[in-house]
Amino acid sequence: MTLRIGCTADDFTGGTDVAAAFRRAGLRTALVFGTPDDTTALPADCDAAVVALKSRSTPAEEAVADSLAAQRWLWAKGAAQVYFKYCSTFDSTPRGNIGPVTDALMDAAGATVTLHCPASPPNGRTVYQGHLFVHDQLLSDSPLRHHPLTPMTDPSLVRLLSAQTRHRVGLVDWTTVRRGVEAVRDAVTAHQQDGVRHVVADALTDEDLAVLGAAALELPVVAGAAGLAEGLGHAYPATGPAAAEPWPRAGRAAVLAGSCSARTLEQIAQFYAAGLPCLHLDVLAATAGRDVTGEALAWYDEQDPALPVLVYASASPEELAAVQAQLGVAEAAARVEELLGALASHLVGRGVRRLLVAGGETSGAVTTALGIRAVLVGEEADPGVPWTYATTGHGELALMLKSGNFGAPDLFTRALRTDTEEAK
Ligand code: ADP
Repeated sequence: MTLRIGCTADDFTGGTDVAAAFRRAGLRTALVFGTPDDTTALPADCDAAVVALKSRSTPAEEAVADSLAAQRWLWAKGAAQVYFKYCSTFDSTPRGNIGPVTDALMDAAGATVTLHCPASPPNGRTVYQGHLFVHDQLLSDSPLRHHPLTPMTDPSLVRLLSAQTRHRVGLVDWTTVRRGVEAVRDAVTAHQQDGVRHVVADALTDEDLAVLGAAALELPVVAGAAGLAEGLGHAYPATGPAAAEPWPRAGRAAVLAGSCSARTLEQIAQFYAAGLPCLHLDVLAATAGRDVTGEALAWYDEQDPALPVLVYASASPEELAAVQAQLGVAEAAARVEELLGALASHLVGRGVRRLLVAGGETSGAVTTALGIRAVLVGEEADPGVPWTYATTGHGELALMLKSGNFGAPDLFTRALRTDTEEAK
């Protein structure tokens, strides 16, 4: 079987988010980390594959080259349509990378028109008259106007995109979307005949996104956030029920946390409060030459194998500042990632079969250390936080990779509970 739809995502956690959306739509979905090549294998019988890139804030030429390489690979695997996933708050600089990447993907596909919609109604992102709202605020009035890398000071998607492409940008407004699939298709065709290449569409609800998805089914390139991907996924004729992978409840379980985000710190506190075994890694001691990895493994060996364990480098803002002052920000991050990557390999080698990793960069370090290039996406424990299944040198591994601020405060204990606990 070959892929039905391929996707390139402009960052790592965006990749997880959109992969979970395709799966919710009933597609058997794989997630691939970084630009794939001839040696990257996909899990069997996937309907959808998402290539998670780091192309949101890189120079436009690099983002374009990586996205085109991903598109070629997805085509080679059989994908007829390629979805470009970007952020639901349209995170980009005045010159890109959304416009340049979409144009390049379209040129390569010979496409003359595409549909864009970053709406994500469950997260309060809606588009009306081409203006992006974050809950009840225009994008430009929301906290996104202060984003450190991509401050968003204009809420008009038509203007934002127009600045990023030399082609014309048009709008399909909400009244048209409410009239249904045919009305949207006709409006897109009319724009195309007028020489408009990028069509921004309004959407206030998931139903609107389902209409847009159905209308976009024949377009070689479609662009937006996870919401439109789910709408598009629903438009594909179902191949049967979504693969029902079991929520993994067997095998030794561990959490590795390298995120210092507020939500991860809460999740760690909740794990402590549940009386489960926790170990804090002393980053400064490790850099001073102490065998922190060896000590952590000795500690792990003493724990009750029936209980999940938590090993974390995560630090409060004050602690983090102290470590960074001593080592420098980049060096501190590199040391912590090296430490957690090595621990992941050792723990899997010692029998861990359920591994939860907290932190976007940390997740990258762990998958790299474990040599994992692609995973099959499974059931979500919380929105945007799915279990995934990977094959390692030690066999099957259930892996959950979460962005620092994702998941409810009790995610760690809930995701790692066993069937016995469940039965209580
Ligand atoms: P998030 O998803 O919350 O942004 P990331 O894993 O992407 O989490 O980023 C957290 C960064 O902080 C990582 O680079 C990690 O290595 C670094 N880090 C974690 N703990 C410490 C620590 N104790 N000292 C210094 N840096 C740390």
